[in-house]
Amino acid sequence: MINLLNFTLPELTAWMQNELGEPKFRAVQVWQWIWQKMARDFADMSDVSKACRARLAATARISWPEIAGLEESRDGTTKFLLRLEDSALVETVLIPSDSREGVRRWTQCLSSQVGCAMGCTFCATGQMGFERNMSMGEILGQILVAREHLGDKRPDWPILRNLVFMGMGEPLLNLTEVMRALRSLNNDKGLNFSPRRITVSTCGIEKGLAELGESGLAYLAVSLHAPTQELRARIMPKAARWPLDRLLAALDSYPLKTRERITFEYLLLGGINDGPEQARELARLIHGMGRGKGKLNLIVYNPAEGAPYAAPDEARVLAFEQYLWKRQITAIIRKSKGQDIKAACGQLRAISL
Ligand code: SF4
Repeated sequence: MINLLNFTLPELTAWMQNELGEPKFRAVQVWQWIWQKMARDFADMSDVSKACRARLAATARISWPEIAGLEESRDGTTKFLLRLEDSALVETVLIPSDSREGVRRWTQCLSSQVGCAMGCTFCATGQMGFERNMSMGEILGQILVAREHLGDKRPDWPILRNLVFMGMGEPLLNLTEVMRALRSLNNDKGLNFSPRRITVSTCGIEKGLAELGESGLAYLAVSLHAPTQELRARIMPKAARWPLDRLLAALDSYPLKTRERITFEYLLLGGINDGPEQARELARLIHGMGRGKGKLNLIVYNPAEGAPYAAPDEARVLAFEQYLWKRQITAIIRKSKGQDIKAACGQLRAISL
């Protein structure tokens, strides 16, 4: 039986026309039930004719990922372990942030692959190896699970505000399904996330980068983590196969929207990439891209048990940040959330909770 979560709206329309003889507007109704009203049972689709619902039930299903475990951090960060239909496990994380008025909003960190082939040396997912790509339905299913958990039922004013593809996997190595997911997210009859609310984070994959840029469907974050090719090759050996100077040249011509900037993620690893020499190199590199094109997120490394690196010294972190500000570079130290439940950057591993 077909899982309707795997259809984009044009695919659902064609399938319902060809297989069920239903008009186009019926597909839009079903699509809204699936993504906006979060129906899992065709019987709930009250404005769809009984005959159509019966035909749908006979040929299709709506299957969400199943929650296999859930952990909540002291800071409110919530990590879900999800079981996919073939029993593969992935993790997704909900991160809270409170406005000045005390209104809580959430960002969801999405996985795009089961495991990851990139093998970055600081990353728990990278140490799992690669199992398989996730389908569009599995990628977007993570959002349905999170919205239901949050009781987030209003597509016009959702409390799940932002999505970041920073969970398990390298999204640009699963380009086909990630692009289908982005197109579906953009649809105002569905989850209705504008590109401003979505960030795709990559360590830099040549083919995928060009296609993502041309699509304009999401903002871009690049996992840099080292300011020189030599150091990058040490800590991200596979990512560094696309040499840093060529990655930067591609980013230089990356199409940006008005006021959009590329976010560079820089994980500070104690004694490895957190010294004044690296800060200088990093400033040179960001300035080389042209004024105002890039901004930096400095992430403080959270060593898990048996981790290969140490946390950076606080004084060095502050000195690193201050040096960049002095060079007129926007650099923000991102407090890692969810460390106590291993939900922070680089800690996702998908083992039973
Ligand atoms: Fe893969 Fe990202 Fe981890 Fe690198 S940091 S191994 S790209 S999940």
